[in-house]
Amino acid sequence: MVQKNQELIVTIEAMGSEGEGIGRIDGYALFVKDAVAGDVVKVKVMKAKKNYAYARLMEIITPSKDRITPPCSIARQCGGCQIQHMDYQAQLTYKHNKVKNCLERIGGFHVVEVEEGFDGTPSFDSVDGKKTIAMEPVLGMEDPFYYRNKTQFPVGVNKEGKAVTGFYAARTHSIIQTEECFIQAKVNEELLRIIREFIDEFGISTYDEETHKGLVRHILTRVGYTTKEIMVCLVINGTKLPHADVLIERLQAVPGMTSICLNVNREKTNVILGERCETLWGQSYITDYIGDVKFQISPLSFYQVNPVQTERLYGQALDYANLQGNEVVWDLYCGIGTISLFLAKSAKEVYGVEIVPQAIEDAKVNAEINGIENATFYVGAAEEVVPELYRTKGIKADVIMVDPPRKGCAESLLDTIVAMAPNRVVYVSCDPATLARDIKYLAEHGYEVKKARAVDMFPNSVHVESVCLLTRK
Ligand code: SAH
Repeated sequence: MVQKNQELIVTIEAMGSEGEGIGRIDGYALFVKDAVAGDVVKVKVMKAKKNYAYARLMEIITPSKDRITPPCSIARQCGGCQIQHMDYQAQLTYKHNKVKNCLERIGGFHVVEVEEGFDGTPSFDSVDGKKTIAMEPVLGMEDPFYYRNKTQFPVGVNKEGKAVTGFYAARTHSIIQTEECFIQAKVNEELLRIIREFIDEFGISTYDEETHKGLVRHILTRVGYTTKEIMVCLVINGTKLPHADVLIERLQAVPGMTSICLNVNREKTNVILGERCETLWGQSYITDYIGDVKFQISPLSFYQVNPVQTERLYGQALDYANLQGNEVVWDLYCGIGTISLFLAKSAKEVYGVEIVPQAIEDAKVNAEINGIENATFYVGAAEEVVPELYRTKGIKADVIMVDPPRKGCAESLLDTIVAMAPNRVVYVSCDPATLARDIKYLAEHGYEVKKARAVDMFPNSVHVESVCLLTRK
């Protein structure tokens, strides 16, 4: 029987959904954070249960062929990148398999791996009574570093009382000072240095979660990938930033600075942003492009964080939508209308639905600045707005695109989609488990799941995006 504090040598055989290595000793499972499939490792048991234990990686005895030295020296402590120590091709295989496993285990499908651009149906439509899905190879990133266009850094002080900015250590709220980060825009290093020096020089207080005292909580930065425009937003537990003029002057000198703002968050919460923003200098937003569509992005709006892969993800979604120009398309969970506007040129009419009112304001502005006149937006929960519009106005759709948050779609929405009977449903998902659950439901109600593909939007983390095409039988 495995016991707490026991040291063991184990071969890691598989990877779990949080990026942890899984090894077995006489059928008893050990979950080891930071271990890679193929590693032989020495571990120390931290928590032992009846059938499994959590163990800490103590020593790598024989490294897996998939293991690399991560470029970031604090990759292991930091909670941001869970699998930076894996070779990128191995990361991609891991993500592809994560989606595949969900489709098979939760969706009950049989996955047939096909080449990119596969256009047809697998030569058999069921295996052992399971319906088949053709899965294209994962869409990875060419250079999987420095991709993030948005970052939110917690601010605190170290033992010497100096300002620290960085990331939370995995599963904690203690801040690790980060001089350089390999997944976000390089310019952040300079922005953070300026802000830390400013805080130290003027003795500005930083927020303490325990006591709910202190002023500066977080720093939000956004950088336009194409435009190089920069936004800096300080989240404060108060209404005024002392000596703001000095900070503005220093930040303004950074090439590309476009927007400097404050966000007020006085709540005792771990939600980062408060509801109110005030522009201190410049514009209240930055702009950026996805393809040739221009977007205005304000501090509070949702905007995809990996611009390079976003374009590829939307390209894939557009490809699955197979628009000829005469279709009515509904884009549910549309955010600031990114997919809707990306699709608008190829469709007759596009309708977007989104729950955050500010995002819909942005979506309308974004339609206007791009001269797009065939896009209409509705505020509200998709599962309320769409059934209501269907009931009262009998709305129709040729294609429905959904891009829900992790919890997936409400069943009432899926029922309305089935009733609206579009020829195609394109499901963009940030959680393959809820994707599998929802497409299983659609497959039981008249739809055929044609193709699926994983897209790596978040290299070095365990998160995976996927796109799936369903057609009406
Ligand atoms: N398609 C957009 C946004 C995807 S993120 C893009 O690619 O940028 C998911 C979006 O769903 C968020 O903007 C979130 O605010 C919104 N949302 C969450 N729950 C919702 C609901 N029940 N109905 C409609 N939108 C919702």
